[in-house]
Amino acid sequence: MTMQVQTSNHELAQPPYYKPFSRLMKQWFGRPAYKITLDAGFTCPNIDGTKATGGCTFCDNVSFSPALRTGDSGIAAQLAKGQGFYRDKYGADLFLAYFQTFTNTYAPLDKLKRLWDESLAQPAIVGLSVGTRPDCIDAQKLQLLQTYANGSAQVWQQRRQAGQALPRPYVCIEYGMQTMHDQTAERVNRAHTHAETIEAVRLTRQHAPDAHLCLHLIAGLPGETTEMIHQSIDECARLRPDSIKFHHCYVYENTVMAGQYRAGEFTLHTLDQHVALAADCIERMPESLCIERLVGELTDPGVIAPLWGKSKMQVYAAISAELRRRGTHQGSHAR
Ligand code: SF4
Repeated sequence: MTMQVQTSNHELAQPPYYKPFSRLMKQWFGRPAYKITLDAGFTCPNIDGTKATGGCTFCDNVSFSPALRTGDSGIAAQLAKGQGFYRDKYGADLFLAYFQTFTNTYAPLDKLKRLWDESLAQPAIVGLSVGTRPDCIDAQKLQLLQTYANGSAQVWQQRRQAGQALPRPYVCIEYGMQTMHDQTAERVNRAHTHAETIEAVRLTRQHAPDAHLCLHLIAGLPGETTEMIHQSIDECARLRPDSIKFHHCYVYENTVMAGQYRAGEFTLHTLDQHVALAADCIERMPESLCIERLVGELTDPGVIAPLWGKSKMQVYAAISAELRRRGTHQGSHAR
């Protein structure tokens, strides 16, 4: 069974009015664990022509350039750099290897095993998060992930034998659902259907029952109404992930979407609209899941819109203030 954060209604009635990821980490490890973002040199079937070319319209094309990728610096070097950053900033001593860049299951099984083993062999790395597309997973990859999730993988056993008193690693697979509406997915060139997301969730529960499952949603994709976003939120809740990442649609320079935005083909949400939608999302999510993210990039120099002039902390505070104003919290309107 997946370990879940036990949160009383009393806790959810307190700020921030939802269950943040940090609470799960404290329960799992007794103290915070920080995600170190990795570029392991993957590509994506939506870029290389296997599913489509050009990628999702919002995907940052600049990073398609091999010269700008960090994958070549190696996993160990990236982990060491990330650990140094969080140690200096927060005094952190536990970390998760977050395979984030592009599609991190788009490789043969032996390559995935090598990368996951290499990460978990490092003494302070206590878990894995793997971001991927719903159409890039299969039973074999999930069965391999399950060996890490249930603590039976050799690399983890070796650490136990070496005397490290460790709980099970935290292992999570993150799927980009983005929307439940296939017409939107087509418009942004996702090149997968919602039916494939449903199947990925089913396969994950069947073959990697001890792994956490996270779904990503984007609010405000071109052509979507508030009603459509609510439908995606409700569908996400119905699929019962262990955590969600919900963020606003933002436009990156050098993307297809940047050209469409400049041509006036769609508009973006205001800060107030996003705060209201994030509060709606929190209310509709079951109390059991963790909310890992509520806003996307705001201050990265590559972001051209929206430019709200706020930090992430300010947006999170605005979302909590909205929930306080409504007198609601996570799960208040869950079905
Ligand atoms: S699936 Fe992910 S990596 Fe691939 S094109 Fe879309 S956003 Fe980029």
